Amino acid sequence: MKLQKKISLISAAAALCCATGALAADTTAAWMNPKLDARERAELVLTQMTLDEKLKLVFGFVGTEWNKTAPPAEAHHQSAGFIHGVPRLGIPNLWETDAGLGVASQAGPNAREGTALPSGLNTAATWDPATAYAGGAMIGAEARAFGFNVMLAGGVNLMRDPRNGRNFEYGGEDPLLAGKMVGAQIKGIQSNHVVSTLKHFALNDQESGRTMLNVKIDERAARMSDLLALQIAKEEGNPGAVMCSYNRVNGVYSCENSHLLNEVLKQDWGFQGWVMSDWGATHSTIPAANAGLDQQSGFPFDLANYFAAPLKEAVQNGWVPPARLDDMARRVLQPMFEHGVIDHPVSAAPGTIDFKAHAAVSVRDAQEGMVLLKNSGGLLPLKASTRRIAVIGGYADKGVLAGGGSSLVYPVGGNAVPGLEPKIWPGPVMVYPSSPLQALKRRLPKSAISFSDGVDAAAAAHLAKDSDVVVLFATQWAGEGMDVPDLSLPQKQDALIAAVTAANPNTVVVLETGGPVTMPWLPQTGAVLEAWYPGTSGGEAIASVLTGEVNPSGHLPATFPASEAQLPRPVLDGYPDVPEQRFDVDYHEGAAVGYKWFDLKGLKPLFPFGHGLSYTEFAMSGLAAEVKGGVLHASFTVRNTGRVAGKQVAQVYVAPLQAQWEAPKRLAGFQKLEIQPGASAKGSISVDPRLLAMYEPASKTWKVAAGDYRLTLAASAMDPQAGSVVVHLGAATYDVNGKPLKE
Ligand code: BGC
Repeated sequence: MKLQKKISLISAAAALCCATGALAADTTAAWMNPKLDARERAELVLTQMTLDEKLKLVFGFVGTEWNKTAPPAEAHHQSAGFIHGVPRLGIPNLWETDAGLGVASQAGPNAREGTALPSGLNTAATWDPATAYAGGAMIGAEARAFGFNVMLAGGVNLMRDPRNGRNFEYGGEDPLLAGKMVGAQIKGIQSNHVVSTLKHFALNDQESGRTMLNVKIDERAARMSDLLALQIAKEEGNPGAVMCSYNRVNGVYSCENSHLLNEVLKQDWGFQGWVMSDWGATHSTIPAANAGLDQQSGFPFDLANYFAAPLKEAVQNGWVPPARLDDMARRVLQPMFEHGVIDHPVSAAPGTIDFKAHAAVSVRDAQEGMVLLKNSGGLLPLKASTRRIAVIGGYADKGVLAGGGSSLVYPVGGNAVPGLEPKIWPGPVMVYPSSPLQALKRRLPKSAISFSDGVDAAAAAHLAKDSDVVVLFATQWAGEGMDVPDLSLPQKQDALIAAVTAANPNTVVVLETGGPVTMPWLPQTGAVLEAWYPGTSGGEAIASVLTGEVNPSGHLPATFPASEAQLPRPVLDGYPDVPEQRFDVDYHEGAAVGYKWFDLKGLKPLFPFGHGLSYTEFAMSGLAAEVKGGVLHASFTVRNTGRVAGKQVAQVYVAPLQAQWEAPKRLAGFQKLEIQPGASAKGSISVDPRLLAMYEPASKTWKVAAGDYRLTLAASAMDPQAGSVVVHLGAATYDVNGKPLKE
């Protein structure tokens, strides 16, 4: 039978069978053949769709009541979004959930309770893509069990400013590290037949004025910084969808920015999936559709239903070519086929979740990503023989802090400290019921452990004086839609720490923060552990690291500045928000983000990118480099010279000796190695040519300049103790995706 005829017979049958709106059971339809490739299947089913059916696929609703407007009846309650499928053709609805840390809930009376990973920064701090993948696989499984087939994850906005209220959702300041880690997480999510997004495209690196601000950046710098992180994450993770961001870039809103969407993402990077807008980030019909936006999200967040009736009118009048609407619908369909959304439909009834197994994934991620910043005189790990321990502050008797906004996962067991401000968006402030105090008590049965909430600094200092060791918890809450005003710990916690350390220098400070903070009290403390937002099992993870059950192995994915004065923008543009007033944020630092900026300006941070201590010591040596098959490889040896097993993150940085880059050096590669005491391990990396090149906008190529390049093996961006080698590279040109071009 001719293909066309077969298809029409099938669709007639499908129409009859599915008048109820249930999915067509006709698995013999040509596009239901899993042996065909996803693109072909998408094109086959597209030929069967009416104009109205295509339009349905490109128009999304918010999945919860918004401004007194009820969501579609089929949406999952308190969810992020919903899009109608085409049931008569076997195309399911799209049920969308936030986000990158687990299955979030919109506020309301019946939040679904799930497992939260530690913050994205914590996962980036593991420097271990396998951990990121496992976390993604776990939260994707929960998304599926709750009946979602799209997860709004994959946040990889570069940390240009440590005050950004959403840094905790992202992967830090380096394009290679962030791209690899977030890409691995996307892959893990999609292993569940759930599409993941990559977001927020692009350059949405602060929350203050995020819907009004206009980022100014030149093309080369953008391609070598934020866009490179997104490009690497896209290559690693192959996300089905990309979410365009709220902000403008060089004058044009991201969601109607043809340069970003049509040119960079679709043409240059070959992205085949769909671009959805962030919630409230669509501003037009014809400009947005023609600029490459494929799906309006979250109606009625936007002012109008741009991609519903107005889009139909635009298509009928030819202002948006019918072929473009086909392309939009095809882009939604293709990843649904590719990632198994259609072949493995989610079930309407919630699946069961193995919370114990999922907690184990979350706790491992937290353990692997906590960063031991300082440890003088072996104060940590805590000894089982310690007689009196004071635990102070940070709600440590109740639980651990989470970040606020759309990514907030509600935990099983509810908020351990309800009622903290802000109670409404981006609140509620959530404390996960996993108490570090209780977890410490279980691990140190011989110690007398007392608790002070730290509200009264004098009382806390008094308790500290009477104790052998103090573990002081300090918190910094951050959330979507706002930036933190500065890098100091809020609520007079700096003064509390000063009072406590003055009373007892054997003080360990445990930080639960959204990102970097300043530490005026650092010299007076014995040890500092950065525990980020450690997820729903965070108390266990913290106690296991403090007691040495787990040897810390996290390394900073971002520079901790000594003060705001060291930042490219000492004062945040647009802070506090001036409603509805457009303003520019000039990324004058270009691609010199994070440690690159600090290097360029010769600034000494509080803690450098890549820093992280262990309870053992490592010696790194034997760095060797060679160019094989046109690719630069480096190999090295790491030896555990201490007494306990541990993991080291070997970092290789590259610096041009003649060529001029945006900054003196870049991270070229990294590897986390687990090593037994006294043993050595060999490591190796291969260097992505884009990290050896400058991007040239005119020719859309990456050009490596002929010359000498110094490779340095290091334990942080400022710790080159492990030696370096110089390699000579010939001139080479790579295409826009870093693939070799014939000269
Ligand atoms: C956020 C997105 C999120 C969306 C849906 C927006 O406010 O920026 O990251 O996925 O809401 O909740």
